[in-house]
Amino acid sequence: MGAEAKSGYTGTGLDLTGWRAKNTRMICKRPPAGKKQRVPVVACLVLVGLLAVGAGAAPAPKAKTAPPPPPLTWKAGVAAVVVTPTNHLWMAGYAGRKKPAEGKVQELFAKALALQDEQGQKLVLVTMDLIGVGQPLHHRLAERVQKELGLPPQFLLLNASHTHSGPALRTSPVTAKDLENERTRTAYEYTQQLEDKLFHVVSAALAQLEPARLTWHRAQCGFAMNRRLPSPTGYRNSPNPDGPVDHEVPVLRVEVAGGTLRALLFGYACHNTCLGFYNYCGDYAGYAQEYVQANRTNCIAMFLQGCAADQNPYPRGTGVVPGLADLDLAQQHGRTLANAVEMANLTPQREVHGPLRAAYGEVTLTYAKQRPAHPYPVQVIQFGPDLTLVALGSEVVVDYSLRLKKELAGEAAVWISGYSNDYTGYVPSLRVLKEGGYEAQTGWADTVEDRIIGKVHELYGRVKQTK
Ligand SMILES: [Zn+2]
Repeated sequence: MGAEAKSGYTGTGLDLTGWRAKNTRMICKRPPAGKKQRVPVVACLVLVGLLAVGAGAAPAPKAKTAPPPPPLTWKAGVAAVVVTPTNHLWMAGYAGRKKPAEGKVQELFAKALALQDEQGQKLVLVTMDLIGVGQPLHHRLAERVQKELGLPPQFLLLNASHTHSGPALRTSPVTAKDLENERTRTAYEYTQQLEDKLFHVVSAALAQLEPARLTWHRAQCGFAMNRRLPSPTGYRNSPNPDGPVDHEVPVLRVEVAGGTLRALLFGYACHNTCLGFYNYCGDYAGYAQEYVQANRTNCIAMFLQGCAADQNPYPRGTGVVPGLADLDLAQQHGRTLANAVEMANLTPQREVHGPLRAAYGEVTLTYAKQRPAHPYPVQVIQFGPDLTLVALGSEVVVDYSLRLKKELAGEAAVWISGYSNDYTGYVPSLRVLKEGGYEAQTGWADTVEDRIIGKVHELYGRVKQTK
């Protein structure tokens, strides 16, 4: 079975099987070189006669009329802001860092896509090239956005790409003593500025709403590899080509008047850990966005991180591939993902209708050992009967995405993101928790998966829509 058939893309406008067969036949029918082709004269005369009769009998050709442009039933606005630190802060992601950043090879961005349905309901999706969205930051920003812009918290989604080449954040409150530490103080000051920038990018996107059309597409991209390798001593953090993955690349396309592309929001489930250097960079997701935006004026590409806790890019790191540095691989994977987005963009689209509905809730997750329980955020956004977008907090393993896509499968397409609205470490499935290993060390009780999945179904039940 071909790749198209496996992934459900047969019968599309991109199915080249018929074209290939037809053109193969045409090539095979060419006469052998050097041999003259005989043309039957009688047959030619008959053909000319038929054409003449046909031409005489044909009705006057009708003027071709272009199909009417698709209705722009939505409104959309986009905005982006550079969030690259202007100074050399300590970087996030790797515990073994020995010094602060030394420079940048790419700008980091926060981007906002504001949408409004025909009933006037608004939604803002925010993506950022940063390590995570601390829950205190999410709460503060959601409160401010509601108070000053009138957008309820369930209609605001914050997602981080989890790049390990961005600054460390300090989202929790600080004391005067904390601020005596320069590393803490600079991280805190950066985070304060970031919060303000996030508010303004949301505000700017909402201020630019214009008539728009939404379509949903998908493709596949293969460089994410499971990183839980079974070994005689337990699960090692190492590439496992046989482990579960989610290679889907969902794409939400935003078109405005004249068919102009205004935004491409795309997802993938893979850690942004190609790089281990001391420069600010969006890693593969930063390059994928850069490549998708290239040569597209006023179009913003946005990356929504998926359930990537146990997924790493493969290959990654300097020297793994002789002659290639980690940056080469980040760019190569970025190109691969950008190409998948382009392919999704070419496949037949699914029109996305409203109305918008959204639900947000925090489910209590407990730890196996004595430790305060954590209010874990779950958000479900429903685009009419066409698309269900689930946003889970923190670093969820791919099992959540695979399970929820099966359990929510129905009329609407299903899109699962992680790293949203919260950043409290790894969130294993029950399988991973029992197996142990790196992603299981957070210490959650074995109710963790049941509680999260239960909350998703509860919220989905509130927003589900059918035609
Ligand atoms: Zn991580």
